[in-house]
Amino acid sequence: MLWIILSFFLIFGNLDASVIRQKRQLSTRPIWPNATYLFHFDEVFPEWRKKLVWEVMDFISSVTCVKFQESYEEVVRIISQNGTRCASPVAYGGGIVNLKPGKFCDNAINHELLHSLGIQHEQERSDTAVYLNVKKENQLFLNNSEISIIAPFDFGSAMLYAGTENLKPYDMDYYYTMGTLPLSFFDIYNVNKLYSCTCAEELKCENFGYTNPSSCDKCICPDGFFGKLCNELKKEPIQPTHSWQTLSKTVENETLYEYIALPHQNATLEIFVAEFDENPLGGCHGGSVEIKYLPDPRFTSPKVCSHDGGRYLKVRASSNNPTVIVYHEGNKPLNYEIKYRYV
Ligand SMILES: [Zn+2]
Repeated sequence: MLWIILSFFLIFGNLDASVIRQKRQLSTRPIWPNATYLFHFDEVFPEWRKKLVWEVMDFISSVTCVKFQESYEEVVRIISQNGTRCASPVAYGGGIVNLKPGKFCDNAINHELLHSLGIQHEQERSDTAVYLNVKKENQLFLNNSEISIIAPFDFGSAMLYAGTENLKPYDMDYYYTMGTLPLSFFDIYNVNKLYSCTCAEELKCENFGYTNPSSCDKCICPDGFFGKLCNELKKEPIQPTHSWQTLSKTVENETLYEYIALPHQNATLEIFVAEFDENPLGGCHGGSVEIKYLPDPRFTSPKVCSHDGGRYLKVRASSNNPTVIVYHEGNKPLNYEIKYRYV
């Protein structure tokens, strides 16, 4: 199992080192005019794979004001070439997005498209040193102070590499959270800010949501909150007691939610993952559980998919009402046992 994990990290770590030099030149280039990304696929790009790319493009268009349009003038060319990496220049200006055949680059489509729209790596922000222990001799990870910081640093960003010996979080609870594949709340927020996507009228979104610039009649919500105004839950919250209770769940190919309420304003929920089937892949992309105990639900809380050091047993205190539990879908059935009580 270890070699699988290591090889994932190594590949991910080299995701697009070849374009670091390019990026520094391109990072000051303007964003795509009219928020319209012009591209065409290489002649040999397989039809079935175009669908994967379009799925990601359609998703980005559904939560931002960015549109994707096939064109043969001043464009990005999306190619599928063996022997090279997944890579993309950063920002407007044409160039080549290379999606090497295979599952790895299929999973990195949203990462590369966000580069193409102008979003840099999370580990290259000027405030990286606060969160990450980056080995200086590793030239891949440059502290690029030219990058403008829009959203706060988030360990659940799809623009952050998976943890390695050369790239470790100071808070090791986040080691396996790093390298997440889906776009995070703040990844999408960054695109909206970069392209000044707004609505004529702002809705009164709850739970830190904001008006969706693609559909101004509904909000974009942090994970766990739903509905037009982010004030709906997937199910009724569980009422905790003073004594420890156990919550068991089996999860496979569907993200599931649970909510635990607080009985009164001064109560605090104590909660931890007691047991689970581990699947320790970088970014926990084979499935994980995330107890969202941070007060601001836009941030990713540590995703648990590894028994590493018994860290998962740490009791988290949450004053959120309700506390959201996200069981992120996996690639095989995984069993979780969570214990909780209020104090
Ligand atoms: Zn990258």
